[in-house]
Amino acid sequence: SFQTAVAADLPLSLSDTIVALSTPPGAGAIALVRLSGPQAIAITDEVFAGKRLAEQPGHTLHYGTLRDGAQVLDEVVVSLYRGPHSYTREDVVEISTHGSDYIVRQVLALLLRHGARLAEAGEFTKRAFLHGALDLAQAEAVADLIAADSALSHQVALRQMRGGFSRELRELRGQLVHFAALLELELDFGEEDVEFADRTGLVVLLQEVQALVRRLLRSFELGNVIKNGVTTVIAGRPNAGKSTLLNALLNEDRAIVSEIAGTTRDLIEDEVSIEGIRFRFVDTAGLRDTTDVVEALGVERTRQRVQQAALVVYLFDITTTSLAELQAEIESLNLPAGVGVLAVGNKLDLASEDQTTPFQARPDTLLLAAGPGIGIEELRASLLARVRLDGLDQTGASTIVTNLRHARSLEQADRHLDAVLVGLSTNGGTELLAADLRHALGALGQITGEISSDDLLTSIFTQFCIGK
Ligand code: GDP
Repeated sequence: SFQTAVAADLPLSLSDTIVALSTPPGAGAIALVRLSGPQAIAITDEVFAGKRLAEQPGHTLHYGTLRDGAQVLDEVVVSLYRGPHSYTREDVVEISTHGSDYIVRQVLALLLRHGARLAEAGEFTKRAFLHGALDLAQAEAVADLIAADSALSHQVALRQMRGGFSRELRELRGQLVHFAALLELELDFGEEDVEFADRTGLVVLLQEVQALVRRLLRSFELGNVIKNGVTTVIAGRPNAGKSTLLNALLNEDRAIVSEIAGTTRDLIEDEVSIEGIRFRFVDTAGLRDTTDVVEALGVERTRQRVQQAALVVYLFDITTTSLAELQAEIESLNLPAGVGVLAVGNKLDLASEDQTTPFQARPDTLLLAAGPGIGIEELRASLLARVRLDGLDQTGASTIVTNLRHARSLEQADRHLDAVLVGLSTNGGTELLAADLRHALGALGQITGEISSDDLLTSIFTQFCIGK
């Protein structure tokens, strides 16, 4: 099976007992050193003075001291988990020590001397996967969950870790495996020219499956936004108020506001979280032709950043910019398709009615005053609306794909499903159909790591009792 294949590929054996610091390094009230593997309890017993852990049941806590020979290293609390009732499904010991780098180093060195090995990155979770506690998608979600820094990304990762995503996929695959099995059966009968698999039913199922695959693919766009944020460039002429606007959004003085045109030379990147969506703001040097070399570099970088942005906030000074100039300046950005632009007129506090009126009818335009902080909330709402339009509401509470690997597999599955549908509509041979269907199943199975050549056989035996 796939899982054994992964195990065979592992350079490091599961018979090792691994150890690592599971809390962040540095000083803290408590540090947690975790061991997992067949010798986890025995190794700890060699250095722990307290109850003999080998005789204790799982899910218990034990107070005692850690000793290096006669020397006491620390007073600790040991949590004992006996496999398979642990995160990795192996015996796990978690040692809570006092949170000092020195103690942690000593404790790790001690455990290594007694036969543990330092864990590789992610190895505890990898073991949980290898022992079947989590599937691949869930294991990946653990990493996302740890990295999640907004309410929304946390929610998506948690849902994936708990198997929401995998469940939906497994259901899909199950239905497809059924048909694949019927097709294989037809192939087994070879010459006899029988059709077990109802072609019309297959088309209906395939279309259903493809619709779900495509919905998941669409959700990836949003998933990516939730996980990685939206790169938003604030562009505009020098002195339009870009630094001031960024500060207003950030509510702190990160960028240096200056009266002298063209001082914002450096790209300043900062993040603002609006209802769980992270906008990564890039402040830029003014977009104007310049002879100053240093500044020219900034302008060039601005043009590059604008090309890479998902969203551009084009800021202009209402008191010095005409509607025609605004149009021309936005056009000169040469934005690639798919990059949204929001035109934001600044210094509303200084503008006359004659100056504001022309912009009022322009779509995707917002007037505000960054300096005194008028209209900032409206700007936040418009930014959010941009992302929302791209699918949050439609997707609702359902599964959101955040992982590039998953998206790639879904794309593959989509292509193979297309091939099966084409084969069916052109009355293609059973052999080709079966092969394309197997590829589609393979692509879907890659996501959860459950690919197994046994799938088809199992399905045939359980559903058709061919074994007679
Ligand atoms: P940048 O070159 O685009 O980054 O522009 P700055 O943020 O440095 O602003 C240029 C000047 O415009 C500064 O003197 C700001 O104080 C001023 N300014 C920015 N926003 C406003 C505003 O809403 N109203 C007024 N009256 N002045 C503003």
